[in-house]
Amino acid sequence: MTWFKRTEKGIQTPTELKKEVPDGLWYQCPECKKVMQTSAHVLNSYTCIECNYHARIGSKEYFELIFDDNQFTELDPTLSSSDPLEFTDSQAYPDRIKASQKKSGLKDAVRSAVGKMNGIEIVISCMDFKFIGGSMGSVVGEKISRAIDYSRKHKIPFLMISKSGGARMMEAGFSLMQMAKTSAKLALLDREKIPYISLMTDPTTGGVTASYAMLGDFNISEPGALIGFAGPRVIRETIGKDLPEGFQSAEFLLEHGFLDFLVDRKELKSKLTDLLIILKGKVTEVPQENIKA
Ligand SMILES: [Zn+2]
Repeated sequence: MTWFKRTEKGIQTPTELKKEVPDGLWYQCPECKKVMQTSAHVLNSYTCIECNYHARIGSKEYFELIFDDNQFTELDPTLSSSDPLEFTDSQAYPDRIKASQKKSGLKDAVRSAVGKMNGIEIVISCMDFKFIGGSMGSVVGEKISRAIDYSRKHKIPFLMISKSGGARMMEAGFSLMQMAKTSAKLALLDREKIPYISLMTDPTTGGVTASYAMLGDFNISEPGALIGFAGPRVIRETIGKDLPEGFQSAEFLLEHGFLDFLVDRKELKSKLTDLLIILKGKVTEVPQENIKA
């Protein structure tokens, strides 16, 4: 059984020389296979011009889509993870962090920023799936908590854009603590009557769904997003039943009351603006005598 063994040495390509397929002029939709110009896809807010499939994008693209003229100030941009458990799987956790940082150009799986959206100030924390599957570790929890503190201090609405595989297993219990920490901070935001909108994008799962993603004054989602806690196979085996059609899709969750509405990414900025104007009107502009008991 030696026919498949590589006998010649020195013909492996080092990882840094392996080229990703460059972003070319053309983009093919993974859903309907339609080929379109990349520029048309970008102009369409990274949604398919044929079937409206919402491609997965990161904080850079969401900030571009939402902040006026892409102007914003990033909050806590340098926070980076330590290795509280001295965890090693196929590689040591600090090495994995370093490799992810190099590959993605990000410090961790969430970025927070403050800026204006159609002239309204807003704080946004947005997760990046390309950083260890958008997993929630101590840095993610801390950055979200600090973004909420910034919202509270300056009385600015908070938008969370979730995209996550759940807790970061390399930080085990420390990851799970972030659920409690962020939820407690959101409770303070709620007490101070500052709006919190949670936008779930494909995919939002695990401990993220089970904490801050579902705690919005408005819980909204992009169409077609997978949203759930455990994977379908685990649930099927636990309850011993087949799952209904479309289970864990944004549309299914909307129908069953878990979401307030779905928002097409092309309308994201205008819908969020409308929502904040309505909320602001409720809090500050309705005279007390007009409010009936
Ligand atoms: Zn398509």
